[in-house]
Amino acid sequence: MKTIGIIGGMSWESTASYYKVINQAVKAEKGGLHCAKVVLYSVDFAEIESLQKSDEWDKAASILNHAAQSLEKAGADFVVLATNTMHRVYDEIKEGVSIPFLHIADATGQNLIDKGITKVGLIGTAFTMEQDFYKQRLKSKFGIEVIIPNGVQRRLVHDVIYDELCVGKISARSKQDFKTIIEDLTAEGAQGVILGCTEIGLLIDSSDTDIPVFDTTAIHAQAAVREALRQI
Ligand code: GLU
Repeated sequence: MKTIGIIGGMSWESTASYYKVINQAVKAEKGGLHCAKVVLYSVDFAEIESLQKSDEWDKAASILNHAAQSLEKAGADFVVLATNTMHRVYDEIKEGVSIPFLHIADATGQNLIDKGITKVGLIGTAFTMEQDFYKQRLKSKFGIEVIIPNGVQRRLVHDVIYDELCVGKISARSKQDFKTIIEDLTAEGAQGVILGCTEIGLLIDSSDTDIPVFDTTAIHAQAAVREALRQI
């Protein structure tokens, strides 16, 4: 079994979910006392969030690049970055790192294709919904059309992520708001909705919606386990 390197802490609430899903999946596959081999480099999210806000992505990238290099030195066989948003600087984080780096949008895109989805809604931070790095990758690598909520809804989703989910607050009101947003995306033709922020799975799961939701935390964590257990 290979050792999974996780760059986490963005937020630690979702990193805890990764750790749980990864270990549950290894246990399901191998049974008994088996669990995953993991090296975790967890950053202080307050530092990263303030660099996002001040548009200093290169500084955030350099912190995460150091994390990736540290994971490699610590014996990780490959890396997963446990946030959608920071994949904006995926190329910069990879610099000087020679182990593979599993992109969260690739794991998600493959999952959508496997389920026959070609038009999908995306909810996540404003960065993930509005900028190109995520939607464009799904379009160019997988041919998937991505639609996003309207401006007011995007602001709501973004604020709930940072003000509630990343600090461990789960609110019934926000859950209802997210369900409405998912219904609106369905009405616009989405065949499924990507929970494109690693904390959204703490608020919404497939039992809350009529259309399939794609929880990027679970999908990415399961892809990491497949890679860890893959015979070389
Ligand atoms: N975990 C979130 C994501 O998947 C948001 C936190 C961040 O900005 O990294 O995008």
